[in-house]
Amino acid sequence: MNIKIADLEFEPLISAEEIQTRIKQIAAQLNADYENKTPIFVGVLNGCFMFMGDLLKQITVPCEVAFTKLSSYHGGTTSTRRINDDFDLMVDIANRHVVLVEDIVDTGNTLDYLVAKLSHRKPASITVCALLLKPDAIEYPIEELTHVAFNIPNEFVVGYGLDYMELGRNLDGIYKRVV
Ligand code: 5GP
Repeated sequence: MNIKIADLEFEPLISAEEIQTRIKQIAAQLNADYENKTPIFVGVLNGCFMFMGDLLKQITVPCEVAFTKLSSYHGGTTSTRRINDDFDLMVDIANRHVVLVEDIVDTGNTLDYLVAKLSHRKPASITVCALLLKPDAIEYPIEELTHVAFNIPNEFVVGYGLDYMELGRNLDGIYKRVV
């Protein structure tokens, strides 16, 4: 069923069930990769909160959880390329295995910035786990991006943590803009 958020119309793209199934597969891979490594899962707010919560419920290896916050869309439907460092990661990641948890990778600009910034702190490794990737939009290829739940078309999406004008984050599935 199509929905309206503020002035825009959206149609279903990925269901809640599909998301949960895919999260279990990714978590199984991470549990195998990080056995005996006690990784730090770092969520990139705000958009990651639902994905981070559901993913972490499926993680069975000992792990730590932390957050950082960046923003670049500023309420609209296209990236501004201007990254705001809203709050820094407050844990020491030196010699630790870091798993960054992102909602969506569009141009890759935000992730490129964050990976470079955290790499300076000398972690043992950095891996990125993203819920969504727009392969046709990527401008900054990121070799650390090894786990992607879904590749999606180069269109604006909301739901499951992602917003339009701060609305729609609470939806349990992903919806794409009807143009
Ligand atoms: P990038 O720097 O990769 O171009 O953009 C990354 C950020 O832009 C994401 O973390 C997210 O906040 C926002 N973004 C990119 N595409 C979308 C989209 O389709 N919908 C929403 N709601 N945000 C997006």
